[in-house]
Amino acid sequence: MPVYTQIKIQTVAEQFCNSIALPSGLDRVCAVAFEDNAPSWRNDQLWQAADSTLHYLIDRHRHHLAQVKGTAECIKGLLSSIDNVLDRLCCESCSQCTAPCCLVADVSYDFRDLLIIQLTDLAMPTGQPRRSAGEVCRYLGPAGCLIPRFQRPWICTWYICPVQKKILAGHHEISSDHLLPVIADIGKLRKQVESLFIDTIAS
Ligand code: SF4
Ligand code: SF4
Repeated sequence: MPVYTQIKIQTVAEQFCNSIALPSGLDRVCAVAFEDNAPSWRNDQLWQAADSTLHYLIDRHRHHLAQVKGTAECIKGLLSSIDNVLDRLCCESCSQCTAPCCLVADVSYDFRDLLIIQLTDLAMPTGQPRRSAGEVCRYLGPAGCLIPRFQRPWICTWYICPVQKKILAGHHEISSDHLLPVIADIGKLRKQVESLFIDTIAS
């Protein structure tokens, strides 16, 4: 998470920790929810804390979050528009991979992931994909990922590996014409969602 964003989030968390309107029990939640753990919220307590805090902040500011929610919904729509081509790309590449990402990569949810999931009223995932280094992603099933694309960490979607880039470059049916610009657009919109949200709850 960028340092500027982290500082703003901590400021907001502290602000709410000091608020007399804070529901009982959330003071400790705020304190741990935005700690600088990398990757963040790996144990169940911290995960629940991040979830509860975001839920609280979104509910408290719900009348001022229409634009943020609209942008989050737009991201969901864009993700939907590339879901099929990404699945086809994966079918062409991942089954023959010697070091599949879902087994070896240390992927994790970041603040933007959790925020967008909550703003679009999706169910929160159970926790970070890995609780400790060396674990396989908990969302990996026998036939691939068990959760919908909207609920996966963004890195699971934006990362196009060299093998896949090669396929995209030479494949006529799986085109990058729509895919790559949409991935770039989603990246920009995710930053917008985060900054709009933080500015709204901090104002
Ligand atoms: S995205 Fe690339 S590196 Fe990851 S599992 Fe598929 S083929 Fe392997
Ligand atoms: S969330 Fe899904 S796509 Fe991402 S690493 Fe885990 S199993 Fe793979």
